[in-house]
Amino acid sequence: MKERLQKVMSNCGVASRRASEQMILDGRVRVNGVIVRELGTKADPETDIILVDGKRLEAEKKLYYLFNKPKGVITTAHDDQGRETVMDYFKKITERIYPVGRLDQNTEGLLLMTNDGELANILMHPSKLVDKTYEVKIKGHIADTVLQQLADGVELEDGMTAPAIVCYNGYDNHTGITNVEITIHEGRNRQVRRMFEHFGFKVHNLRRVQYAFLTLSGVKRGSYRSLTAEEIKELY
Ligand code: URA
Repeated sequence: MKERLQKVMSNCGVASRRASEQMILDGRVRVNGVIVRELGTKADPETDIILVDGKRLEAEKKLYYLFNKPKGVITTAHDDQGRETVMDYFKKITERIYPVGRLDQNTEGLLLMTNDGELANILMHPSKLVDKTYEVKIKGHIADTVLQQLADGVELEDGMTAPAIVCYNGYDNHTGITNVEITIHEGRNRQVRRMFEHFGFKVHNLRRVQYAFLTLSGVKRGSYRSLTAEEIKELY
């Protein structure tokens, strides 16, 4: 597929889109033998010969990983404060991969990582309605009426939440913790925490256990596995 040259370059891992634009403006990029300085020029690394500083650009191999993010790890590529990020778990991967969406620092569980910008955009688009299931642990008892309101929709600062599937998974007498499972398809900032906070509950532990049809099965905390070709196809 033909795309803007700077996008092709960043997708192929040459540099960021901004830095690639500068390389184009500096006359370092040739498409089919011709130096291109127009930022709107489109090209396809599969069918066009794109040279950057004389070196042929190869279409980057697409990578897809299902990661079990531990608590305390930040979902960004870099952290100025030197805190542990998801990238620290992918040091063996030399391609520039990134997370699909994000989990809060204190949320653990399923996070997809890829270098396929097209799939990441599809999955994160609100119209895609990807179901995400979270195990929630809260202190104390929660009334059935509250569980029903969580399912029906909660009025947050950024509007009413869409209907959710809420499942009561029991109260532990020993720890005083109630377990709830909630499935939402929206992806607002701190949404699950804010939904429970709305009723005065502080979320004690939050773990994403399912994303679309993908689960954490067989993937230990802090480790990852590649998606299969069938799984990738089904996500598109
Ligand atoms: N909802 C939250 O509150 N936090 C997350 O990390 C994900 C969903």
